[in-house]
Amino acid sequence: MAAETLSLYEFFKRFPDEEAARKFFEGKRWGDEVNCPHCGSLSVAEVKNHKPMPYRCRDCRQHFSVRTGTVLAESRLPLHKWLMAIYMMTTARKGIPSTQVARELGITQKSAWFLCQRIRETWLAKSGDNGADMGPTVEVDETFVGGKETNKHANKKLNKGRGAVGKAVVVGIRDRSGEVRASLVSGTDKATLHSYINANVQSGSTVCTDEHAAYRGLKNYTHMTVRHSAGEYVNAMAHTNGIESFWALLKRGYYGIYHYMSVKHLNRYVNEFANRHNTSNLSTIDFMGNTAVRMIGRRITYKELIGA
Ligand SMILES: [Zn+2]
Repeated sequence: MAAETLSLYEFFKRFPDEEAARKFFEGKRWGDEVNCPHCGSLSVAEVKNHKPMPYRCRDCRQHFSVRTGTVLAESRLPLHKWLMAIYMMTTARKGIPSTQVARELGITQKSAWFLCQRIRETWLAKSGDNGADMGPTVEVDETFVGGKETNKHANKKLNKGRGAVGKAVVVGIRDRSGEVRASLVSGTDKATLHSYINANVQSGSTVCTDEHAAYRGLKNYTHMTVRHSAGEYVNAMAHTNGIESFWALLKRGYYGIYHYMSVKHLNRYVNEFANRHNTSNLSTIDFMGNTAVRMIGRRITYKELIGA
């Protein structure tokens, strides 16, 4: 069954104003019972007319809001605009440029860029989120993103592993349930690729790759190879078509929407595409709710983003 998409009309009906957005974030964080983010106490008083910090803890006496201790804390943008941005990024399958977010939200492009990066940051896997749990049949492939257009066509596969000047290497894994994980890595060498596979794929699984030499010698896996150089693209169950169609989606976003992703931020974009891909069975509203929950306990400052 196709996941339920929230139309723009329904979005505004459901979230007409700041108060509705605040209720949404609060519900996702606390359910029915507000607890103090400083000490965990449930003895909380609502403070009337105390806008930025509407709650006060009776135990530790500190004031707080739903933003406290989350990605939202450093931001002065209304929660309604945050929710609109999450909605826009959730429903734009090929990604959305920050210039468009800026126009729709009536904020500067710089604010929109920062806003979108922080939403992407919340989508990044936290350590411990993912283990070596993909399988039992996976496709693994790596691709280059960026660099000159002229370098990226027919010769891409043959040039693999020889390093490509000015390009970033992204490695990805897709299992046959359709889940994708992808990440920026330092190179296409054996050590890098093997350790990425070991960190994400259950031992005993079947790993399908192309003939890139760095995949040889995988331990604890059955390795099947598709020989692209011999014009072979599907070898019974051994194919890498799934991960390659994910690369196509990523590259449409990269070349069509974002035009340029600096290597510094590329991992966040790659993750954005993987996350949207993996949650395409969720309704828009569930996806937005997940995003709100993932904001808890995280923060990222502008300085960290541009200095990273
Ligand atoms: Zn407290």
